[in-house]
Amino acid sequence: MEKYYVSTRDKNKKVSAKQAILEGISSDGGLYVWPMLDQVKIDLHKICEQSYLENAWMILKELLHDFSDEELRDCIQKAYGSSFSVPEITPIRKVGDVYVLELFHGPTSAFKDVALTLLPQLMSCALKTADSKALILTATSGDTGKAALEGFKDVENIGICVFYPDQKVSLIQYRQMATQQGNNVKVYAVEGNFDDAQTKVKELFLDKELAEKSQKEHVLLTSANSINIGRLVPQIVYYFESYKTLVNKGVIQLGEKISFSVPTGNFGDVLAGYYAYLMGLPVEKFYVASNANHVLTDFLTTGIYDRKRDFIQTISPSMDILISSNLERLLYYMSDKDTEFVKGCMEDLNTKGSYQIPEEMLKKIQSLFGCAYLDDEKTCQVIRETYENEKVVLDPHSAIGYAVAHKAKERPIVSLATASPYKFSQDVLHALDRSFSDELQAMHTLHDLWSDPIPKGLAQLEELPILHKEVITIEEMKEVVEKAMEELV
Ligand SMILES: *Cc1c(COP(=O)(O)O)cnc(C)c1O
Repeated sequence: MEKYYVSTRDKNKKVSAKQAILEGISSDGGLYVWPMLDQVKIDLHKICEQSYLENAWMILKELLHDFSDEELRDCIQKAYGSSFSVPEITPIRKVGDVYVLELFHGPTSAFKDVALTLLPQLMSCALKTADSKALILTATSGDTGKAALEGFKDVENIGICVFYPDQKVSLIQYRQMATQQGNNVKVYAVEGNFDDAQTKVKELFLDKELAEKSQKEHVLLTSANSINIGRLVPQIVYYFESYKTLVNKGVIQLGEKISFSVPTGNFGDVLAGYYAYLMGLPVEKFYVASNANHVLTDFLTTGIYDRKRDFIQTISPSMDILISSNLERLLYYMSDKDTEFVKGCMEDLNTKGSYQIPEEMLKKIQSLFGCAYLDDEKTCQVIRETYENEKVVLDPHSAIGYAVAHKAKERPIVSLATASPYKFSQDVLHALDRSFSDELQAMHTLHDLWSDPIPKGLAQLEELPILHKEVITIEEMKEVVEKAMEELV
């Protein structure tokens, strides 16, 4: 079996898994995919008998070919050995007749931890082969920055610089980043908004002087973006894990199909589910659950992807996305790996702001993917009702997935819960009609209503010392990146 990844926009652009992880995105703008993915069949019997870590190893081994067995074991141990607060890593809680898969027991209480604890280890390992170091640059509106900092802190051969808009993140997000420990981390508040910082980071990746310096010093400048294949593959594991849990609880027999509902933004999480399906997981249906930015609901209903619409700020900010980048990988597999077709769609998206897929392909997608969306008002209603009826508190993202699962006709259904409600205490309390004085206190008020403990990382925030106080201008970003590169060598 051919072991190369290719670009979704060019089947002749071939790289190894390690190269794909280090590069992140292909130089033609495409995403890296492995054409033979659907030839792999994971042994479900084994899945049901093994631990999370063993299953992660068995699955990753099939996808990351140029990593040795030993390297993968080592990466997985470092990622999941001690950083999650529950032994199952991703436990299931039955809420009504829905199985809620809790993905938020990692260091920053959001599902991105599952991937961002493992990606840095994979990257560090790939760097050894490449005999290079790497500096991660991340502009963040709040959440991704913290998850990346936690994942990359103290990882060998890698440094990380995070830029967030000064005074424009929540108090909790500010404290999460400003108290970050680790000897390879840099955190800067930037004068300007998120877009300014994001635009500058993109510029820095294209900067000629920095590129020269990067070559000379053997320091790769890269990002930890969610289109990196190294962020996608760790997420496949918990789809198999949830299947294992349902089999071992006696809810299903081995081989029976189950369905999933996934709160979706960039289409990474639900795509990992589709990868699990291609690798043999028995799935009836995936529900793509969206908020008021329902570009995916429209696409899955009409076959037209149209990003020409207003961006709406919601109480589920991690799903506020108009370009769901990872959808490109679904198009690749659904078009029978037609890279010219995918390239055409993406060119249309760039130039016209929209593209349309053929009717036949839409039907094929619809036979596996359902969809629905909730606006903020409905989301609050679901949070309130779930608390009143089931005595369970859901964060706004997870509430959207839950509501869509609840309405679906397929059973059993697993709904992915992507953040701890304590991370969004204010909005959750609003939904529950409770008052509070400030954001940190809101966490405790929520705890008075609900018995689940406040996650350690959030509870600590009031006591930890502030370590990063620097506020810089947009222009100064290049300078601090140069300095960080020098320190890394
Ligand atoms: C990132 C995120 C999502 C969306 O996941 P995608 O992979 O972008 O679809 C949903 N919920 C939370 C809390 C997130 O952080």
